[in-house]
Amino acid sequence: MTTNRDYYDILEVDRSAGVDEIKKAYRRLALQYHPDRNPDPEAVERFKEASEAAEVLTDPDKRAIYDAYGHAGLRGRGFDGFADIEDIFRGFSASGVFGDLFADLFGFATVRRGRRPKRGSDLMYRRRITFEEAAYGLEDKVEVERLMTCDVCDGTGGRDGAKPVTCATCGGTGQVAAHRGFFSVATTCLNCGGTGETVNDPCPECKGEGRKPETVTINFSIPPGADDGVRVRLTGEGESGLWGGPPGDLYIQVTVERHPLFKRQGDDIVYDLGISPAAAALGRKVTVPTIWGETGIKIPAGSQHGDNIKTRGEGMPRLRGGGKGDHFVRLSVIVPRKLSKKEKELYKKLDELEEDNSG
Ligand SMILES: [Zn+2]
Ligand SMILES: [Zn+2]
Repeated sequence: MTTNRDYYDILEVDRSAGVDEIKKAYRRLALQYHPDRNPDPEAVERFKEASEAAEVLTDPDKRAIYDAYGHAGLRGRGFDGFADIEDIFRGFSASGVFGDLFADLFGFATVRRGRRPKRGSDLMYRRRITFEEAAYGLEDKVEVERLMTCDVCDGTGGRDGAKPVTCATCGGTGQVAAHRGFFSVATTCLNCGGTGETVNDPCPECKGEGRKPETVTINFSIPPGADDGVRVRLTGEGESGLWGGPPGDLYIQVTVERHPLFKRQGDDIVYDLGISPAAAALGRKVTVPTIWGETGIKIPAGSQHGDNIKTRGEGMPRLRGGGKGDHFVRLSVIVPRKLSKKEKELYKKLDELEEDNSG
């Protein structure tokens, strides 16, 4: 995003101002609005604006385009201003125009990217659990392979803990300039991978990485009621950070196996029970399994195929809010395929009775 304000107005200089005058004006504004010095949120925008104006007006090619065609002319040639503060330092250090100015203004450290603290990666392990384990919860442990801060060099990557030195290729900026048309663009320095620092004599233990792999056993618990896809987070048990950054987290992702008898619906459990036409018609007391043990239920007289009988609070524990869901017995009325002689007689009597009633 570029500003729409006039560059000369922003820097408060004449249209005929020379490069030295522009640099001086920019230096004054940069000191006033640099976000390290000025906490006002507006200051960032002012700083970006002034930096963009200075970038254009100190470059003869860009300035000529701007003078002739204005903002539109620059945009038409791919000039995009600065995305953020970091971008400003990259752009200037790569073009070289302001490298000296920034070194002068804010010290070399501001221009240099350096080995910034980097958070360690999160790790994820999957754990299959049974339906019962999902209901009751589970304590277990897992063997985790992860990168941990090297204890030999204390994470510096240098032999005997030697600190890294400024990269000779990029002078510590982490960026090298490449030219594209009118403009110079910054690309990552390959010698130091963009960190601006290199290790001359790498730590033999971690080969200069600052971290090394280790295998640890970590205990975890899966709470009662965990459903398929639930993730248990173990804060700080992921990979170690780099250059003093915080560690990542470890996640255990739960997969719940199917149960031969029960189906889960939210926090409720459904159990299918087949009953005879007589039981459906007359009603009956039966014992059914739940995940918590057997329980007695009463099938009411006149039950229909597909009816549900609810036992409150015998379902899955709720992960949030406490308590448990309900246990449902879903009735299937099953007509016998084969009848004994006695049954056949009784069904015939029933049939005759039904014909009499209907006739
Ligand atoms: Zn090491
Ligand atoms: Zn470098």
